[in-house]
Amino acid sequence: MNQPVFAIVGGGLAAAKLAEALRDQQFDGTVVMIAGESHLPYDRPPLTKGYLAGKKQLSDFTLNPEQWYADNSIDVRLNTKVTSLDRANKTLTLDDGSTLTYDKLALATGSRSKRPPIPGSDAEGVFYLRTYDDASALSERLTDGARLAIVGAGWIGLEVAAQARSRGTEVAIVEGAQTPLYAALGPELGQVFADLHIAKGVDLRTNASVEAITVDGGKATGLRLADGSTVEADTVLVAVGAAPNIELARDAGLDVDGGVLVDENLVTSDADIVAVGDIADAWHPVLNRRVRVEHWANALNQPATAAKAMLGKPEPYARQPYFYTDQYELGMEYLGLAEPGNYSRVVIRGDLEALEFVAFWLDSDSRVVAGMNVNIWDLTDDIKALINSGRTVDSAALADSTIALSDV
Ligand SMILES: Cc1cc2nc3c(=O)[nH]c(=O)nc-3n(C[C@H](O)[C@H](O)[C@H](O)COP(=O)(O)OP(=O)(O)OC[C@H]3O[C@@H](n4cnc5c(N)ncnc54)[C@H](O)[C@@H]3O)c2cc1C
Repeated sequence: MNQPVFAIVGGGLAAAKLAEALRDQQFDGTVVMIAGESHLPYDRPPLTKGYLAGKKQLSDFTLNPEQWYADNSIDVRLNTKVTSLDRANKTLTLDDGSTLTYDKLALATGSRSKRPPIPGSDAEGVFYLRTYDDASALSERLTDGARLAIVGAGWIGLEVAAQARSRGTEVAIVEGAQTPLYAALGPELGQVFADLHIAKGVDLRTNASVEAITVDGGKATGLRLADGSTVEADTVLVAVGAAPNIELARDAGLDVDGGVLVDENLVTSDADIVAVGDIADAWHPVLNRRVRVEHWANALNQPATAAKAMLGKPEPYARQPYFYTDQYELGMEYLGLAEPGNYSRVVIRGDLEALEFVAFWLDSDSRVVAGMNVNIWDLTDDIKALINSGRTVDSAALADSTIALSDV
């Protein structure tokens, strides 16, 4: 009897976790993973943390060793891309010219770095950071006394800045918004990150836009800003966000917008295809809206739900978005979703100056929509309970660390 074939397109965290989940859930058919990179699936967060700090190597954050794939009969095709998806015939075409027919399909194609058309981008010394190979190439440039200019004060730009400073590299960051992380955290907490980086010697220029990467003899020499000022550098990192790889899904006629549209069970507009990780724009049954999250925890946790759907046992994915960062001595976890425009104020519990606090974002009805614990740990469950309760809180009690979060 023919074994059913479940195909996974992608080779990141979501793809690896989906392969694991299928075997954990006793699927004993064929699993084929078509993975665009030449390395086995690995975690990306360490790239801008332990790896750039020189404290970790690829094997430390490779998700499963080669033997695991052999032991679990996962047919991994590295360095291979799926170029098209024919849904009518349930067939994938690969860039080596071969085809693969599937019974169920999981799309886990993740994101790529955005590459805005800044003049000078093709010069030597201009970098983007998405993969292990990108991080390795950048790492060679972060030497003592080198000068790094970063375009964009998002998570990647700030984490690289922190590592570069610890290696003695001079760092300038140019950001269009009024604070770093403006779209993710809003101006109040964005300012905390601004102050931190400035204190560490970063030349942070906000409300500023890059007109061009300056080039001499084919090599990047810095940035020219719209106000006519310049930044001198021998290396430029363009870190202005990620673009989801949705083209395969879109060209196959699946419903897409900014991501691949999936229902609360992570199933696309084709019942035989699921989508997970960065690309999944999923209906969230608690938030009652679509959410697409480009964060590690999402790629870690969604696959178990998607595997259930592939095996005919659908179950909604209802976790709150979660992410974390480490920069210098600041470590934090963030839970929920507060974007400029969907919260009305921020309440701080703890010591902002000492970087030991919890920030809560409240909506206009004084309900907590997100919380971020900075250098204070083991609060995730309490913050989650507060958000999920949907109850109105007393903001004075919320700011008072002597009152338990369950009592505010
Ligand atoms: C440097 C860095 C640091 C990060 N740090 C944090 C952090 O601290 N905290 C946090 O919460 N999140 C962090 N993230 C985000 C997190 O890593 C991502 O959300 C996560 O990697 C998404 O996983 P994914 O499997 O959906 O996609 P990806 O990790 O992007 O993997 C997708 C894979 O699919 C492959 N692929 C794409 N198209 C095809 C195709 N057609 N055929 C075959 N293969 C294909 C790609 O080559 C890639 O290998 C970081 C990301 C980066 C880049």
